[in-house]
Amino acid sequence: MEPMSQAKPESRQEISPQAAGRITTLLRKSKLKVTRSRIAMLNLLSERQTHMSADEIADAMHASGHPIDRVTVYRNIDRMLEANLLAMVYIPGRAMHVGLRSNPGSPHHHFIVCQETGRIAEIDSCFLGNCWEHARGVIKQANGWELTGHVMQYVGLCPEAIAAGNGTAPGTGHPDPGELRRAASAR
Ligand SMILES: [Zn+2]
Repeated sequence: MEPMSQAKPESRQEISPQAAGRITTLLRKSKLKVTRSRIAMLNLLSERQTHMSADEIADAMHASGHPIDRVTVYRNIDRMLEANLLAMVYIPGRAMHVGLRSNPGSPHHHFIVCQETGRIAEIDSCFLGNCWEHARGVIKQANGWELTGHVMQYVGLCPEAIAAGNGTAPGTGHPDPGELRRAASAR
């Protein structure tokens, strides 16, 4: 048990016992050691409901009165990515962003990134689901490589971008990377 303290700094934002309990269960289920840093990081990502870079996480931890050094933030991100508690989103030209998985612990996930607003949504369906074995066979034969997994991310327009009339003509499936970069930097 943490000793009671009357002299906590005003700016320190306490983590509710319910949230801490939920996160502790999550960490234990994923066979990860329960540490104060991990609880604080997961609580932050859960409250913000967004994806953040390691530096943004470290800054937010500091601002909320839970200072964690950057090395610890990076290490924890690595461990929690491996355990599928966090997911990584790739936005060209920007630092790696991580967020809390909507279904923590499940091994498979993909994202859609909105090219207009930069919003990110997690999706359950996998485009390779029915043709994974086929893809493995083709690549093994053509390149001699043994596939063990894949990383992919959809790009598109979120409902808000469509409603705002930002919808462009249906793409070729291979958007100009510059378009993504512009959308990301406009945030
Ligand atoms: Zn997949």
